[in-house]
Amino acid sequence: MKTYGFAATSCEAPLAPFSFERRELRDNDIAMDILYCGVCHSDLHQARNDWGWSQYPMVPGHEIVGRVTATGKAVTRYKVGDAVAVGCMVDSCQTCDQCRKGEEQLCREGNTQTYNDKDRITGECTYGGYSKHLVVREEFALKVPETLDLSRAAPLLCAGITTYSPLRTWNVGPGSRVGVIGLGGLGHMAVKLASGMGADVTVLSRSNAKEKDALALGADRLLVSTDDTAMAKAASSFDLIIDTVPVKHDLNPYMPLLDVDGTLVLVGQVGPLNEPSTVPLIMGRRRIAGSPIGGIAQTQEMLDFCGRKNILPDCEMIRMDQINEAFDRLERSDVHYRFVIDMATLTPDTAAA
Ligand SMILES: [Zn+2]
Ligand SMILES: [Zn+2]
Repeated sequence: MKTYGFAATSCEAPLAPFSFERRELRDNDIAMDILYCGVCHSDLHQARNDWGWSQYPMVPGHEIVGRVTATGKAVTRYKVGDAVAVGCMVDSCQTCDQCRKGEEQLCREGNTQTYNDKDRITGECTYGGYSKHLVVREEFALKVPETLDLSRAAPLLCAGITTYSPLRTWNVGPGSRVGVIGLGGLGHMAVKLASGMGADVTVLSRSNAKEKDALALGADRLLVSTDDTAMAKAASSFDLIIDTVPVKHDLNPYMPLLDVDGTLVLVGQVGPLNEPSTVPLIMGRRRIAGSPIGGIAQTQEMLDFCGRKNILPDCEMIRMDQINEAFDRLERSDVHYRFVIDMATLTPDTAAA
């Protein structure tokens, strides 16, 4: 199937129109028209090879929402016209202990990423959602509740599940005391989801400039992390802190905020941190943990939860040809809170331009 999208051809090149092929439908595949695709901070990292494993040409995009246009002959879960979504992974071994538990993101053989990875059967490059069409095995497609606004649902597939999963792992519910560091794409979803679960939510920020925004998103308060008096007063008052900051930073100011057995979970920065002290960890039996996305079953649970509670990200819709400008703005954190590409603006003409 011929299709088109926007691709990076090297770590320095801006994204540009790109024509390519999607595979013919296998028996368990669905084909979809992509309607919307979110712009994740990791798209920027991967397009620029910040993590050192990028392959080019690269079609980024792993927050994908669309409608089914065709189904392979063994497909049972989807029919033409269904609203579907695809997140960060499109395949896994399906047989290891983690896959059998529904934790495909932790597949022992490594899951197959939606882009910048290799198809498990043919070895061909996987291409993501900055494109018009997608073919994916039905086991890795999600149902989008019809109550959700499709134009805003896409960021749930990465920013949503990345913050929902640790909230579930650490059993957040009514009365849990949750802190959120960083109020970007991930952070704003962490606030909405934790608040939707009934938690008491505090946004941690370097100044009080974002206080109004934090409260509007559902936070109960904002704690200024550079205010030593306020930080000392908040010692031992959190069960879980979700740290969404996507760059190298210092955890030491935050560790004393955790109560005994409290956990600070990193979901943003992939790479080095400033050296943490073990003193607050050991003396207060506190933990530092990491968490990736969630499994397919949990991703569906998250979508259904958002459908019931009508939880959606705050999005700024862009045209496909604005993607390079969006990357620049993303780098400056100049977005409230997630860019979403309206794929109706990607036409063969845009692609040929
Ligand atoms: Zn992402
Ligand atoms: Zn596996």
